[in-house]
Formats: sequence, structure tokens, C-alpha cells
Amino acid sequence: MGADGERKRLERERFYEPEIQTLPREQLLELQWQRLLRQWRRIWDTPIPFFKRKLESAGATREDLRNLRDLRLFPTTTKAELRESEAQFPPFGDYRGAPPEQAVRLGASTGTSGRPTLILWTRKDLEVDYRASFRARWRWGIRPGTCLANAHPFGMNAGGWHFSHGIEGLGILNVPSGPPGTAGEIRDVLEVWRRLRPDTYRLFGNVATRFAEAARELGLDPQRDLNLCIAGDHPAEQYLMVSSGLEALPLLGSACDERDGAHVAEDLAIVEVVEPNSGRLCGHGERGNLVVTVLEKDNFLFRYDLEDIVRWNELPCPCGETHRRLFYEGRARDLVRVGDKALLPIDVALLLYEFPEISTPSAEYQILRPDRPLPALHVQVEYPRSVDTAGLEQRLRQRLRDRFGIDSEWHFVPRGTVPRFAYKANRVVDVPASQLARQ
Ligand SMILES: [Zn+2]
Repeated sequence: MGADGERKRLERERFYEPEIQTLPREQLLELQWQRLLRQWRRIWDTPIPFFKRKLESAGATREDLRNLRDLRLFPTTTKAELRESEAQFPPFGDYRGAPPEQAVRLGASTGTSGRPTLILWTRKDLEVDYRASFRARWRWGIRPGTCLANAHPFGMNAGGWHFSHGIEGLGILNVPSGPPGTAGEIRDVLEVWRRLRPDTYRLFGNVATRFAEAARELGLDPQRDLNLCIAGDHPAEQYLMVSSGLEALPLLGSACDERDGAHVAEDLAIVEVVEPNSGRLCGHGERGNLVVTVLEKDNFLFRYDLEDIVRWNELPCPCGETHRRLFYEGRARDLVRVGDKALLPIDVALLLYEFPEISTPSAEYQILRPDRPLPALHVQVEYPRSVDTAGLEQRLRQRLRDRFGIDSEWHFVPRGTVPRFAYKANRVVDVPASQLARQ
């Protein structure tokens, strides 16, 4: 085998779809352009009333999209607008790219900031999502013939269905175990895991810890008996995928072995990172809102602002994949402002993990966000009784000041005080400013 043949073989091992994942950037951009143009024409010609109305009221015409760079000129859409469209034209709104009777699956996006919106997939939409999922799982080294246990919740607003199909379609034995339920249910799950010893686990937040604790109570050693090792819950794990809304989630990819951002499926979606006030596009390393234009789906969204904060890694990746990498930083609604700075839970989490005395086995904390601006960031954090909190607070304040240039106050609480969440932890709580007066 010549050098070229050897390179091809390695690419085949590394990538699920080597041709598309290593496509030279200029060809990738040309592909994006052709696909964008197709969706753009559907907005005007089908038409898709919601997006057409929106573009028209911004003064745009069908002829105004002349190249990829023009995309930034058009208005973005938020979930609140989709919600309004659904209320006005129940039940599905007038923003769908395909007639609802062609849809085969429904999802409801989390309704934490209002009533949930409905997501519809046609068969083709599912195929597009699964294809992106296969690439993402392959990047993590998950291969056919192995066995994977996952604890995704199954229900209308959960990615469990999507995740499972993305595993099964790759030829992997999927063990959908669900989040920890009653003691009896946990015991049943552990018994199956004991018999199978899955090769891979996909458990989130405190789920792995809860299963491991339950296993120990039954006299099992999680590592030896279940092949379940608790890797800890290091906040940098957040960067291994972009966990945004289900409207775009599978297209946003996963991190490769470089673990330096998640490779987006840029042939299937155009991702922009946008400074929310000015609409300016953010460059390498700059935080901004995640705005996605879905390319290959029947039900697509045009410049959809997921109200999540991300940043680009625009450097070429040593792995050879040409699609850019993205870091998921957190939800826009979790931004906490102190003076002219804005912090996210991941900033606090990464800092806490530099202090093993409070982050072993995991750092449990909540940012207390006051209802009026205070001069310092307030964080409630659990500590073990053996730790001298006065010295620790001094060092935490210093580290935070060095890194972000802001003051902080730390409220130490005993282990077990901060609420535990089975799926995604709530790291920001709103409190009256009066409650944060120094005790
Ligand atoms: Zn890479």
C-alpha cells in the first residue's frame, strides 16, 4: 500500500464520513452556499410564511442573498417568536418547512423560559440528524460491535430517542437505562449492567455517582463488576459536545481526540457566533450567541438564535477534519453580570476545580444572582468540615480577581446542601440582593 493508500485507510478509521469531514474548506463553503440558496428559495417560493414575513418586514427581497457573507444581514429568530407563531397558528405555527402531516416525530423543547415549543421531524430530518450523530459518536471512538449504556431520559423534551437511534444505527448494542428511578428500578438496571459490563457509559451530571453509590450499597464494585468508572465531573467535559437545543443539537457535533472544541457538521448547518447587541460576528475565541441555519432538513430554521453562549476555535485541527470547532460555554440566561463583566457557571466551575479540597469528588456550587447589581460575585459552595474556610476564601477571591478582575464573596455550606439534579444542574439561582448581605 502506497503512502496515499495508507493515509486513506487511516482516515477511514478516524472519520465516519472521511470524504465530507475532510473536504477542503473552499469546497465546504461552496456546498454550504448551494444548500443555503436552496433553503432561501424555499422560504420565498413554498413559501414559509413566518420567515418570509420576517424577511419582508426587514426590507429584504428574494434577490438579496448573493453569497454566504450576506447571511449575516438578515434578522435572527428566537424561541419566543416561534412560540408566538405556534400560539397564533396552533398547534404547529407557520414556520415549518414541511407540511406537519409529513412529520413522524415530535419533541417539545424545555419550557423553562415559557411554554415549550414543538419540534417536528420528517423521515428525512431524522436521517440528517442521525447521520450527524454517527459522526459524533465515531469521533469518540465508539465502534460497531460494542455495548453502550446510556441514562438519557425518554420523553418529549429529551434527547433520549435521538441519542438511542444514533447509537443503534451505528451497529452498537444500546442499553437505554434511563435516569435513576426507584430503588427497585436502580437495582434492576445494575443487575443488567453487571451481566453485560458495557464497554461505554453515557451518564450525565450526578447520574453516574448515584448509580455507583447504589452499586456499592449492594456490595458491588462499580469498576470491577460493572466496568463503570467515575471519571469525576470535570467542567471541561462540557466542551466535548455542544449541548444546545434539540432543534440543532446533533448538527453541532463532538470533540475529537484533540479535545479542543466540538467539530460542527458544517455541511449540514451554518453556525454563526453573534454578538447579541450589535449583531457583529465573533471571531476566534470570542464569546457570543449561537445562531444556526439548518441546511439539509425539511423542517429547517433560518438564523435561529438558540440563546446559548459559544465560542469558535478557528484553528485548523491536527486531526485533519476541516469543519470548525465550537466550545459550548453555557446558556445566555445563566450569564451573571458583575460590573462590566459577565461570567458563566463554567468560569466558576473551572476555577473551583483548581482547588482539590472542595472539588473532590465533585465541586457543588451555585452562583447567587442578585436582583440588583452588587459589586461582587456571590457563590455558594459546599466544603468538607476539615477545610479552613477563612484561608480558602482568601485564595478563591484572589484567583477570581486575577482571572476576571472582579471581587467575590463565598458562602460556604456543608456537603449535601446544594441541590442535586439528575440531568442538568441548575448552577445559577436568583435571590434578593438583601439576602446577600455579609453575615
Ligand atoms: Zn479534530
